[in-house]
Amino acid sequence: MKITNIYAVGRNYAAHAQEMGNKVLEEPIFFQKSSASLSDDSVITLPRGREIHHELEIVTSIGKGGNNIQVDDAWTHVDGLCLGLDLTDRPLQHKFKEGRLPWFLAKSFPGSAVITQFDPLDLNVWSRDFWLTINDMEVQRGNMDQMVFDIPALIAYLSARLPLTAGDLIYTGTPSGVGLLESGDEMILGLGEEIKGKFRVKSADK
Ligand code: ZN
Repeated sequence: MKITNIYAVGRNYAAHAQEMGNKVLEEPIFFQKSSASLSDDSVITLPRGREIHHELEIVTSIGKGGNNIQVDDAWTHVDGLCLGLDLTDRPLQHKFKEGRLPWFLAKSFPGSAVITQFDPLDLNVWSRDFWLTINDMEVQRGNMDQMVFDIPALIAYLSARLPLTAGDLIYTGTPSGVGLLESGDEMILGLGEEIKGKFRVKSADK
């Protein structure tokens, strides 16, 4: 399916909001990543001279678009889930935030929207913990249950404000443990006992 829009949600896990010094919000906060940022390549290339942080997230693929999708109906609009990385230039994001400016370019650069293979929707499987190891050390672990706004609530909220279209992706927020990526890092993304993706990080300089 052609990916049309890439939406992402900020502060959707209380522990991550806290680690960033942010309050948990009463309404979800959405931003976008450019579709030109999408990558399923097993090599993550860090742009030259930038500090890129990992954010492990569940990514929702919209299979059927719509307006004003109701919470009860929301899962019928989802055709799959995967694990992804919302890669972020953290210093640049802080700079934009301090200037009260949009942080789009801190979230959109080549390869910044990493996805693994989408699975058909099976909530029994996706209710397991998802996790990220870097060089065999676990750095992030989360569970759908910990989301401040669950996936049906996100779909309902967003589709009440603009139409969702088939092929849209929603990055649903990251649990705590975000951190800097370095050249040579080996990342493994998993769900329960299952490995969903492996990535090698390299610097654009080399
Ligand atoms: Zn994120």
